[in-house]
Amino acid sequence: MTTMRTRFAPSPTGVLHLGNARTALFNWLLARRHGGVFVLRIEDTDRERSTPENIQIILDALQWLGLDFDEGPFFQSERMAQYHAAADRLIAEGHAYRCRCTPVELEAKRQQAIAEKRKSLYDRTCREKNYGPEQPHVVRLKMPPDGSTVLDDLIKGRVEVNNAEMDDWIILRSDGSPVYNFCVVIDDTDMRITHVVRGEDHLTNTHKQLHVYRALGLEPPRFGHLPLILGKDRAKMSKRDGATDLLDYQELGYLPQAMRNFLARLGWSHGDQELFTDDELIKAFTLETVSASNAIFDQDKLNWTNASKIREAEPRDLVEPLLPFLRERGYAAEDGERLLEIIAILRDRSTTLVDMADRARMFYCAPEKYDEKAVKKHWKGEARAVLERFVAWLKTQDPLRQEDIMPFIEGLAQQMSLQLGQIAQPIRIALTGSSASPPIEATIALIGRDEVIARVEKALRELPLPQDPADVTTPK
Ligand code: GLU
Repeated sequence: MTTMRTRFAPSPTGVLHLGNARTALFNWLLARRHGGVFVLRIEDTDRERSTPENIQIILDALQWLGLDFDEGPFFQSERMAQYHAAADRLIAEGHAYRCRCTPVELEAKRQQAIAEKRKSLYDRTCREKNYGPEQPHVVRLKMPPDGSTVLDDLIKGRVEVNNAEMDDWIILRSDGSPVYNFCVVIDDTDMRITHVVRGEDHLTNTHKQLHVYRALGLEPPRFGHLPLILGKDRAKMSKRDGATDLLDYQELGYLPQAMRNFLARLGWSHGDQELFTDDELIKAFTLETVSASNAIFDQDKLNWTNASKIREAEPRDLVEPLLPFLRERGYAAEDGERLLEIIAILRDRSTTLVDMADRARMFYCAPEKYDEKAVKKHWKGEARAVLERFVAWLKTQDPLRQEDIMPFIEGLAQQMSLQLGQIAQPIRIALTGSSASPPIEATIALIGRDEVIARVEKALRELPLPQDPADVTTPK
């Protein structure tokens, strides 16, 4: 059996669009599933856009997404000799010809077609002239004037195009540069690609490309055209629907494994399963289960997928992706046991790494302000006495052990005839500025004894509290 060989062939435009990232993922999954080869080819014939920086963006994006390639990157710009050799062969064998029609002549014909409400197709003036290379020319492929071209697409099924819709298109421009539809066939042939999986926007290109295979006497690969990714309003996905550049998701705190899972589910399904490990994706992925209809980008689902992947991750595996977000916020965060514990308690409640970093603030910084509503609700009654007794106790605990904290709080509640919340909430406000935090004993232990004492003393100084609890009604 021949080895499956798939490829990803991006043009370096400065971003890796979500749709292209999904194309890369599907090709990677296919190759991995079938023990095949995944090839990376950079389509860099547009010299202006194909800067080293733009090429690097693609490599970085693929690396972040975790899609490793087995061969390449190959560069079209380094393969000009192969394209010219193929064009020469097509001319010699009568499948292509030199055309000397000038741009001015062609424009006049185009205007006439528009005036006559006809589709503007090249009228084949030079097709049988057998011009040599002496004068300025382009090279055109001889297309069959009638009949139809049938593509048996692995996703779309049978797609037939009338040959009368296609003209003798240019394969080499007047400056000798080859066009995409020509290069891609020579490349896919030389790279022995067996399956070309790409966006549905390439469907019309494929029909043209099939004629290059035919003219060269080659068996074409199998093709699969992926449906588009649309926004919620069913128009082409735009920035209003969500970020369209893959690497923006890295900055927004999404995990690559969540992006792989989410992108895989854009247009592909496996029963009603939503969450997949990479191994499960690789085992389950087939083109037969890719939907032929368009996929809808759903930000809520992406957030849910990301939150699930964060929850499932080992804290150790979140350290490296999380640290830049912590440092960017100015926290003195270090890799170590303490960070692992912080991640472990925030893991269940964070949607993104940005969210996790924001929530981690309390472990690195004293509150700058106190939430007014929380203060109004909990900063009253016995709160001062509670906090003073808490600090006095903490001063006797050196080192402070996490397992001693709850017994102390429970004991205090009993002695003062208070509910647990009447103890925990003022402590939370003093430590975090709000009445929401992970479990109180873990929060206290992670902030650390000395810092807890400092924060409580600061809150007692800064927040006015009734001196005499008898003056106010005790909260429920
Ligand atoms: N370079 C083309 C693009 O970025 C893809 C070509 C292909 O997959 O055949 O859209």
